[in-house]
Amino acid sequence: MLDRLDGVRQSGPGRWLARCPAHEDRSPSLSIRELDDGRVLLHDFGGCDTQAVLDALGKALDWTDYLEGHARRVYAPITDDGLTAAHALLARRSELTKPFTLRDVAQKHWSGLDRDTIEAALECLAEYGHVDSTEKRNRRSLIY
Ligand SMILES: [Zn+2]
Repeated sequence: MLDRLDGVRQSGPGRWLARCPAHEDRSPSLSIRELDDGRVLLHDFGGCDTQAVLDALGKALDWTDYLEGHARRVYAPITDDGLTAAHALLARRSELTKPFTLRDVAQKHWSGLDRDTIEAALECLAEYGHVDSTEKRNRRSLIY
């Protein structure tokens, strides 16, 4: 991925900065961080959302296929959306039987909690230690 981006420079161990492919980026504002487990965090300090960056990358080099082929997961850093959704989810926690999966939550069709926000919310809750997650061999399902 890094060799396809412009203006890449390493900013630390497992961290890089590059010019964002989704906007006219004069100084590198896209930060890329690779976690030990292979997940990649992207954040554009120029303000593009992560999906826009991924779309731009995907169009340029079919990176979506690359990602799926490598079974990698790309996450936006925890955003305020994640926090808000995390609060919404916590408030309804008693309505969920444990253990539950992202799909279980999505099937409730709670307002403000679509698949993407639920994922962000669960990620956030796990980060803050509100839920424990166990990864099944099937990478799509985390059990909380
Ligand atoms: Zn951008």
